Amino acid sequence: MRLSKRIQEIQPSATISISNKAKAMKAEGKPVLSFSVGEPDFNSPECASKAAIDAINRGESHYTLNPGIIELRQEVAKYYKKRFNLDYTADEVLVSSGAKPLLYEALQMLVDPGDEVILFAPAWVSYVEQIHLAGGKEVIVDTLATDLLPTRAALDKALSPKTVGILMNTPSNPSGAIYGEETLKMIADVAREKGLWIIFDEIYERLVYGGAKHVNILNVAPDLRDQTILINGASKAYAMTGWRIGYAVGPKELIKKMNTLQAHLTSNASSIAQWAALGALKDGDPVVEKMRQAFEERRGTILELVRDMPYLKVREPEGAFYIFVDIRDCPLPDDMKFCERLLEEKFVAAVPGTAFFAPGFVRFSYACSMDNIKEGMKRLKEFLQSL
Ligand code: PMP
Ligand code: GLU
Repeated sequence: MRLSKRIQEIQPSATISISNKAKAMKAEGKPVLSFSVGEPDFNSPECASKAAIDAINRGESHYTLNPGIIELRQEVAKYYKKRFNLDYTADEVLVSSGAKPLLYEALQMLVDPGDEVILFAPAWVSYVEQIHLAGGKEVIVDTLATDLLPTRAALDKALSPKTVGILMNTPSNPSGAIYGEETLKMIADVAREKGLWIIFDEIYERLVYGGAKHVNILNVAPDLRDQTILINGASKAYAMTGWRIGYAVGPKELIKKMNTLQAHLTSNASSIAQWAALGALKDGDPVVEKMRQAFEERRGTILELVRDMPYLKVREPEGAFYIFVDIRDCPLPDDMKFCERLLEEKFVAAVPGTAFFAPGFVRFSYACSMDNIKEGMKRLKEFLQSL
């Protein structure tokens, strides 16, 4: 059967494929430890589950307003005021089935065929495919040689008359790096000078460690409000990946256009999940802090264990829940083969850096139990010694 060119060209999501492979091996009885998919191992906060159960009992089983229930959009607007002192109204918030479709909708809205979009690598796997699905072309600004932060010189080099926008993510998946004020100001200057839009994916903003601070780009460049879309959601901060709730915050006209697309695509996000997210946003803060502390402890342990291994190099990540390990000095520097053999020989699942435009690196998610971290890193060390 003839398939569209678009779908023939799409690459599978490496994060999801590896996680599925690990799950399948586990189901066959293999002792797999997964450091692959980025999702908290915690259950969702009780306040979220309770809000969902109440919603079921109330009969909230119908389509909701397409952009999301007003209560949740108001709460997201309130959150942005409280957390970043940014003023948004409920009609400047769009709720969707996770952050992923919002990124897709934003790109569909902003990218025409042939347009170029700047990505800072290492970059999360789905960005590039979503840019392609909009007919656009990614232009990669590599940050591996500059402490995982983009420089003005590198960004300038990537610009062309076809550049329309910048799609960025801080804290970064996969590197865990946080873009500080100076870097954000530099990116904002370029966007301002060239009239570029910015999609600012801050889905890991609550997960920062060691006194590091997440900065919202509009706090350093408030004048860019009209050309910036903020992407956030319940998945990571509230351990609610399965509920599928994300939110986009941006100027009314753009949000309205994304909503028009959403009305043809998914309609509203699950009604029950929206009420659950509202419960989480209202009362989940203490739980978020507890989980953050647990991640911080795990980060300390995994870093200590990896630093004790031969060949590997790792930069301390300030946020998210990943370590991004440089394997280029090891006898098996091919990250694809490394991950394949690590899974087959030691039953440890991790994601090759190639999936993030960073060959020679491997991503380990430490959003799993301390026991898994200790046992998994023991196996990784044995693997390295066996090479
Ligand atoms: N952005 C980044 C950087 C992510 O890591 C993820 C994780 N899947 C998403 C967006 C999408 O989040 P969601 O699960 O809410 O769709
Ligand atoms: N964002 C997570 C990851 O990178 C979840 C999987 C996905 O959606 O890609 O592993």
